[in-house]
Amino acid sequence: MSNVKFYSGENIPLEMHKVRIVQKLNIMPIERRLEALKEAGFNNFLLKNRDVFMDMLTDSGVNAMSDKQMAAMMEADDSYAGSETFTKLETKVGEIFGKTLYLPAHQGRACENIIAQTFVNPGSTAIMNYHFTTTRSHIVRNGGTVEELLNEEGYQVNSECLFKGNMDIPKLRALISEKGAENISFVRFEAGTNLIGGQPFSLANLMEARKVCDEFGVMLILDASLLADNLYFIKVREEQCQDMSIREITRAIANQVDIIYFSARKLGCARGGGICTNNEEHFVKMRELVPLYEGFLTYGGMSVREMEAMAVGLEETMDEDMINQGPQFIAYMTEELQKKGVPVVTPAGGLGCHLNAMEFVKHIPQQDYPAGALAAALYLVSGVRGMERGTMSEERDDNGVEPFADMELLRLAMPRRVFTLSQVKYAVDRIAWLYENRNLIGGLKFVEEPKILRFFLGRLDTNSDWPTALVQKFRSDFGDSL
Ligand SMILES: *Cc1c(COP(=O)(O)O)cnc(C)c1O
Repeated sequence: MSNVKFYSGENIPLEMHKVRIVQKLNIMPIERRLEALKEAGFNNFLLKNRDVFMDMLTDSGVNAMSDKQMAAMMEADDSYAGSETFTKLETKVGEIFGKTLYLPAHQGRACENIIAQTFVNPGSTAIMNYHFTTTRSHIVRNGGTVEELLNEEGYQVNSECLFKGNMDIPKLRALISEKGAENISFVRFEAGTNLIGGQPFSLANLMEARKVCDEFGVMLILDASLLADNLYFIKVREEQCQDMSIREITRAIANQVDIIYFSARKLGCARGGGICTNNEEHFVKMRELVPLYEGFLTYGGMSVREMEAMAVGLEETMDEDMINQGPQFIAYMTEELQKKGVPVVTPAGGLGCHLNAMEFVKHIPQQDYPAGALAAALYLVSGVRGMERGTMSEERDDNGVEPFADMELLRLAMPRRVFTLSQVKYAVDRIAWLYENRNLIGGLKFVEEPKILRFFLGRLDTNSDWPTALVQKFRSDFGDSL
């Protein structure tokens, strides 16, 4: 988005790209969507794309690629060991982060597997601003526990705080001294804190955490999967960074941490992932696991085409015009929904627009999965597929007790450069209609509940026939419209 003002005074996010390849979309009648939802066990993850109109499930691996990325994919150098493509990627990672030792991995959670196996000992604690689903699962599987030290403001769905992803530094110091540094596997900062609405941390906060880590000799790790959004927010919200380029901010962040890992399904708009560091000892320890779980050290489970796209995508992440499209479209959508009184997470973050299900469907108790129910209802009335980020995304403890999530969110991800503004307006329109008719939405219950990461494959049912009531109301308001 450029810094272009509209004569009308309207605040419109103006795209700094043009679309040259398109994919036709389907929009099914609501009756077909109800069948599809039943086939999918009321879990949006199990829907088929052919039944979906706007896929806002995730930005993972579905951001639009640039012409330069596509061109690079054509000249990839294919070989099992020692391909030029890998060297190009390794060099680009080194150039951008200033960390020259790079391990390839097939996606973000694969990096987490390697890091958790290497650094998490049974009984140890990993401290973080907030957990991500796969991150916590890997740490727990390796016998560790996760402690979240998110700043108080981060837990407020609506706040004026510009850096809701910040860590509470006094609590960090207190927790490390209480547990003893030797029992801390690492401190982890997640950029663009996913589960609390894509909220950023500030560079100043990261620097404070670094000081504490240095006091105790504890390692600091960055999950950079959602770094692009966080870079943009630091640039526009953190005063002392306003004169820094995106590249300089990236380096300033990277300089604070010992290890960086990322999902390139998000960062760099490609596929794959990787871990980088300047610490030889850590590098060698982690390296052993790469051929075992990922593939040889010069591809790590990625195709050479993916690696080429990633190298170019990482470079394009340094362009503010490229990385501001997501946050600005999300801010637009969030503001339009606010105007209509729909409860949303504020300030608008990265990754997607987040509806506050706890408020939207406040008549549904947490044990009936309000965010999951809202996700199913929104798909039903619009064909827009979002992702539940609430209690369904949690796991039961060893005694089968279900922890209620801090927030019940329906995340509507905004894949970069994929949707047009009129499509966003369509989503806003249907969400506003659903909000008017929110009392028709009822709860869900599991009929098949996997033990690990149940939100991916679990099947549910409704606890009353509320979808039929919603379909009837839709038909009476919209006639035979799709
Ligand atoms: C998506 C994501 C991951 C996992 O990456 P995958 O490529 O999906 O395995 C890890 N951390 C964060 C913050 C993420 O958003």
